Amino acid sequence: MNITLHKTSTKLAALYLAIMMAISLFFSVIVYRLSAQEFNRVRGDQGLVVRGIGVPGGGPSAVGPLSDLRDQFIERQDAVYEEVKTKVLIHLAATNVLILISGGVASYYLARRTLQPIEEAHEAQNRFTADASHELRTPIAAMRSETEVTLMNPKLTLGQAKTQLQSNLEEMDKLTALSEGLLRLARFEHADLPKKPIELRQVVQDAINRVMPTAEARNILITGEIPDGMKGIGDAASLTEAVVILLDNAIKYSPEKSEIAVSAAANQKAMSLIVKDQGAGIKATELPYIFERFYRADTARSKQQVHGYGLGLAIAKNIVEVHGGVLTAKSTVGKGSAFTITLPKA
Ligand code: ADP
Repeated sequence: MNITLHKTSTKLAALYLAIMMAISLFFSVIVYRLSAQEFNRVRGDQGLVVRGIGVPGGGPSAVGPLSDLRDQFIERQDAVYEEVKTKVLIHLAATNVLILISGGVASYYLARRTLQPIEEAHEAQNRFTADASHELRTPIAAMRSETEVTLMNPKLTLGQAKTQLQSNLEEMDKLTALSEGLLRLARFEHADLPKKPIELRQVVQDAINRVMPTAEARNILITGEIPDGMKGIGDAASLTEAVVILLDNAIKYSPEKSEIAVSAAANQKAMSLIVKDQGAGIKATELPYIFERFYRADTARSKQQVHGYGLGLAIAKNIVEVHGGVLTAKSTVGKGSAFTITLPKA
């Protein structure tokens, strides 16, 4: 827990406790006052009865042994009432101390629980900022050091200069891809997208058309069978983008001449779109993390050979979730992966 959040929890706990104590003290005062009033009333009633003892016809002017007894009784009765009042006061004070201690512990626990999700979001945000700046710094640092070395070369040839510029261009492309990825991620996070009728078949067709050149370049066949009538509500352009991400990954992480199958199924409430490849697969230990921003699994074609920033699935997940759907993955190393988008039906 960081310092700021620890301080906030303590402040919140203090506020909870202050409210609790204010209520408790308010009722304690009321209880004490009512009890005192009641004692005084009872004492007054009994006093009237007792004062009549020893007096023919009653009255305060009585004398003799009975009146002594009466005076003693009244004195004793006053002492008892004072004692009872003090006891009530002590009990109330003890109850308040108990509430203060147990309320303090409970308040801190409640404050921690209230702030836990905020703390997690805060940590995730910090992690994200650190990862993003690391990813941004790496190509810039590479470009800078290479350019410096090239510039320091007194016998720099035109060919070497061209190679350097070419390398800079590649790093710039990476930076462009990264900033675009970050922008898309931000755009789809809790986005308020247009809600129009969509046809799943059309979404898939558009996505396949977009990745077709890359698939053909790697001799990968994409087969798709999406029945008509699978309708939902949402933004067709962003859903197409989510399907493109899944297809792109299937192409990137599959061997040449393999096959990618796109299929769909539906029940009364939901429809599912499945993108299945015959690629490298993802280890079961890594599967839970692949939707996290900047996470890249250590598969055969991943990291070393395939360029990426680990943002694609996070973007796809955001898009699916703003449509009220879920994105899940199943995978077997060496056999392939299947990604499923489940969306509510219109
Ligand atoms: P990127 O592809 O840029 O690394 P993604 O967020 O799209 O980022 O994917 C995260 C990781 O999940 C990838 O690095 C890869 O290891 C794994 N992955 C995603 N899709 C597949 C797939 N179809 N087959 C195997 N691994 C995959």
